[in-house]
Amino acid sequence: MKKKLDKILITKSSMPAYEEYIEAIKPLWDSHWLTNMGQYHRQLEKELCQYLGVKNLSLMVNGHMALEMAIQAFNFKKGAEVITTPFTFISTTHAIVRNGLVPVFCDVKEDGTIDPSKIEDLVTDKTVAIAPVHVYGNICDVEEIDRIAKIYELKVIYDAAHAFGIKYHGKGIGTYGDASVFSFHATKVFNSIEGGAVTFSNEWMYESLYNLKNFGIRGEEKVVSIGANAKMNEFSAIMGLLNLKHIDDTIKKRCMIVNQYQKAISKVKGIKSIKKKNEFDNNGYFPIVVTDEYKETRDELYDRFRKNEIYVRKYFYPLTIDQDCYKDIYHNDVTQARELSKRVLTLPVFEDMTDGEFERVVEILKY
Ligand SMILES: *Cc1c(COP(=O)(O)O)cnc(C)c1O
Repeated sequence: MKKKLDKILITKSSMPAYEEYIEAIKPLWDSHWLTNMGQYHRQLEKELCQYLGVKNLSLMVNGHMALEMAIQAFNFKKGAEVITTPFTFISTTHAIVRNGLVPVFCDVKEDGTIDPSKIEDLVTDKTVAIAPVHVYGNICDVEEIDRIAKIYELKVIYDAAHAFGIKYHGKGIGTYGDASVFSFHATKVFNSIEGGAVTFSNEWMYESLYNLKNFGIRGEEKVVSIGANAKMNEFSAIMGLLNLKHIDDTIKKRCMIVNQYQKAISKVKGIKSIKKKNEFDNNGYFPIVVTDEYKETRDELYDRFRKNEIYVRKYFYPLTIDQDCYKDIYHNDVTQARELSKRVLTLPVFEDMTDGEFERVVEILKY
């Protein structure tokens, strides 16, 4: 009888040693201070500023709320338009719509990021912002986006959920645009179980984000604005602090796997990589493109992976604009994005991936 294969999932959350975490959370049993911008919340904000190379950062309960609040902090008029892309996780589009704004979908380039040559045609007198995505850590054309934003006086809010730790021209990626949003979800390169952060260029934003994430409370009997609750708790903050201690090692191990993948796919006809080479890459994802020269379609390849208990993912298919909740509402031309979305497949990457697991993935590709 054939032995049942072990599952290989798309990723495996990085965790500190059990004893290390237990030791680190002990002080909480003395203080009984579990949330509300505690000591570890403040420490993680400080350490993340350092690691990400940014001056201003607000820690949040997750990446999605960080995105919603980053947008909300600008107080755009309801019904205003935000130019974004559909080749992303659904959160990007939801955050715009849940703010009462209208997403205007711009097409993407071959690397999955927004095509800046198509942005200006989409600008109307209702446009207030551009919300591009550094997909897979591929950096958007930040200079060109900045140039356009200046001409039309638009804000730029990056979804940098995939871009943890990435640098551009020696500067943290979170220093570009007006604001950037990171996710520390369990499936991301760096995690605090759930978590996220907004980085921003204007200091006034710290105050607004603080109010937004804490009900607008500024004193025992004082509420100054209409906020929600998006605070990170101390257990998450401690998880973040410990994972941050090990992040260089985590990324180094991922880097070795991604390099091995690059080598392996260069020998497979019809499979291409769409990873850009950044100055520093976090190796969070390894997306491939299945071209017509490959012997199967993307979906056939996906099915074969599944039959072999390998849980590759179609990041990002369908496009957000094509999901049930959006498909009959927005009708922008996103031909390139749709084409890419039909061909892309993201392979498993995690820090303690074994040679055996790696070989199983590559064997399927080579078949
Ligand atoms: C993960 C992710 C988010 C949302 O982050 P959460 O922490 O899961 O809320 C937003 N945008 C993109 C592109 C993501 O990958």
